[in-house]
Amino acid sequence: MRSRGDRHLQAVRLARELALLGARLKTIHAVTGLPPRQVQSLFFPDGLTIPRGRAPDSVEWFHGANLILRADACLFGVKYEQLRQQGLAAGDALLCAYRAYQCVTRSPSRISMDRAFNVASYLDGIWLAREPALSVSHCSHCGCAHLTAIGTPAVHSNGCPFCRLLERFHHDPRLQVAYRDRSRPLPIDADRLKAWPQAPQRRAA
Ligand SMILES: [Zn+2]
Repeated sequence: MRSRGDRHLQAVRLARELALLGARLKTIHAVTGLPPRQVQSLFFPDGLTIPRGRAPDSVEWFHGANLILRADACLFGVKYEQLRQQGLAAGDALLCAYRAYQCVTRSPSRISMDRAFNVASYLDGIWLAREPALSVSHCSHCGCAHLTAIGTPAVHSNGCPFCRLLERFHHDPRLQVAYRDRSRPLPIDADRLKAWPQAPQRRAA
């Protein structure tokens, strides 16, 4: 069993990584358990670099988001779910899944760390959420794992976000800007996207 000191050092390490990725004090506090004042004194000593603004508490932003944000949120959420299935602690899974999301999309990240925290909360029913409101489903059209609201049909008649993204890509300049750059001739990174985890069945509660 790890000592109290080990657990505290682990929390500080995780807090530092979250702070570097732009998480708000409230998010860092929820994930690590460290008091916000302590987080501020350790990582935002001058107060000027504290992330401002209000992060979403509910998952409604995801349901109302445009296709690009929904697809990005799915990339993060599917990876987070896979890591949790593999036994990673929630905080570590949040961090690893966010880094993996950053690796397959362009910078700056369209899904902030706070929104990733929101998605993870509602996948697991922890932190912001009292119970899960999102789950990972597999699209019967394209096979991609994606996020759906619990209690709704897994796939709409016009497919998952990735079906719609691929269908619209060649006709929608916004999608071309979002998912293509000179070093990446294909949407996102095709090889990495193919290797992206197809999340297994939800684990038992
Ligand atoms: Zn699909």
